Amino acid sequence: MRKSFVVFFLVMLAVLSLAAGSARRKTRAASLRLPAVAINAIEHIDPERIRAHVRFLSDDLLEGRGTGQRGGDIAANYLATEFALDGLNPAGDAGGYMQKVPMVGVTALPETTFTLLPNKGQPMPLRLAEDFVVSNETQQPKSDIDAPIVYVGYGITAPEYSWDDYKGTDVRGKVLLMLVNEPPSDDPRFFKGKALTYYGRWTYKYQEAARRGAVGAILIHKTEMASYGWDVVRNSWSGEEAYLRENDGPKLAAASWIQLESARGLAAVAGMDLDRMISDASLREFHPVTLPIRLQAHVVSKIRPFDSNNVIAILPGSDPTLKSQAVIYTAHYDHLGIVPGQPGDNIYNGALDNATGCGILLEIAHAYATAGTKPARSILFASVTGEEKGLLGSEYLGKHPPIPAAKIVLDLNYDDVPPLGAPEETEVTGAERTSFYPEVESTARDFKLAIRPDARPEAGHYYRSDHFSLARVGIPSFSINEGVKYKGHDIAWGMRQAEDYTAKHYHQPSDEYHPSMDFTGDAAMTRFGFALGWKAASMQQEIGWVKGDEFEPAREKSIAAGQH
Ligand SMILES: [Zn+2]
Repeated sequence: MRKSFVVFFLVMLAVLSLAAGSARRKTRAASLRLPAVAINAIEHIDPERIRAHVRFLSDDLLEGRGTGQRGGDIAANYLATEFALDGLNPAGDAGGYMQKVPMVGVTALPETTFTLLPNKGQPMPLRLAEDFVVSNETQQPKSDIDAPIVYVGYGITAPEYSWDDYKGTDVRGKVLLMLVNEPPSDDPRFFKGKALTYYGRWTYKYQEAARRGAVGAILIHKTEMASYGWDVVRNSWSGEEAYLRENDGPKLAAASWIQLESARGLAAVAGMDLDRMISDASLREFHPVTLPIRLQAHVVSKIRPFDSNNVIAILPGSDPTLKSQAVIYTAHYDHLGIVPGQPGDNIYNGALDNATGCGILLEIAHAYATAGTKPARSILFASVTGEEKGLLGSEYLGKHPPIPAAKIVLDLNYDDVPPLGAPEETEVTGAERTSFYPEVESTARDFKLAIRPDARPEAGHYYRSDHFSLARVGIPSFSINEGVKYKGHDIAWGMRQAEDYTAKHYHQPSDEYHPSMDFTGDAAMTRFGFALGWKAASMQQEIGWVKGDEFEPAREKSIAAGQH
């Protein structure tokens, strides 16, 4: 009697908890506005699986996953193996998961010289590293330049802001002296106010100068304008610079920076005042000035060709028509490798940067692969190389996508997602530039995540991770990350964690795996990104850029190209 009562009681308990469970799932299902299979897949996303990937990928045996190095290649192989185990189709070269990315390393050697030759007066030699840094984008071992210097202000031509520093000046064969960043403004309609647009980035300035036929460009470094000090410029430009090997248009033989005080000296030799030159450049009427100085440069470089791989898989969509389109998930697997000869720990494990993103990418791939049903559109998974070398793997992917860029409706990127516990916020900077944003907002609400605005739009973070490479070819793109508010902590705590990481571990050998890491937040970002991708892959409408966005023309161009 008593025994049967216990059995009855246990059975009732089981029935009740099952009912509660299914009710819970149903309410969650309803509140997530996703089909049951997708909810089920979301519920199986497991922080401990992400941990396992991060632990392996950041092991010392992976040697810091350097681009084109053994550890990086092992990481790529691991990612491909995981894709294969999930039964995803290869989407790389020749029926494999690997997409070869041909690169070249260029190191300026000490015999490189820069000399300023004023029309009147003594030649003025500049010191490599102290006064200037330079890289030869043309990938030639030796280049000689002897050309007049033309000051072009910010070096920007932006019709949408009625801004043109060049004013039709012929700069072919010239060396252009220019400022970093963009004309200062608080007006959100003018270069987005304080926020940095792509026009403010040095990459744009070099490209625009080369496109106009200049042979060299000298960027004047000013800490407040660049948002980093001369030491950062000097350190990151003194070693090897890497480029894609393919020749896709004009390049500068001298892509260089000059230190502020040296620039002051240059201006003085020209009989000008640098502060005056800087303030003149903020006027719409600014006109390029040919300085009474020539630059004589002898750029000697070590050229090292090498290859690395992007790892790409695809899950074909279920709709016969829409499957030709895709949502893509990206995360870079490369990090800084080993620095030979550095005393102490010289392995840059990159646990957070970006083993976490790879773990999330693999868990998302696993969730799609095991969901049982596929969304209408296809899903691409790409773990890219060479991010730390200047977004090179994603640049190559954007130029050589497995399906045409016009047919990729959305890129969701993950880079450096901290294992700090349960987030109550998400950062999706750039999502607001796409027509998908209302869906992002409502999905964030469903997941009880507040959207945290970009804390420092003036630093231009949108232009510094892999989603940007895909935005450049028109694909609506953004990264998903946590904000700073975590469950059980205040915002100040989250801020401290972020500052501590940036100061002590970011791009340091100490960015290592610890068993105490809590991957709850990485799993939360995985679920959120899975839900967003599923919705984007299922909805009838296509996603585009908000009217007038700087990437809208690139989208229109790629769509037009697809129609021919
Ligand atoms: Zn990263």
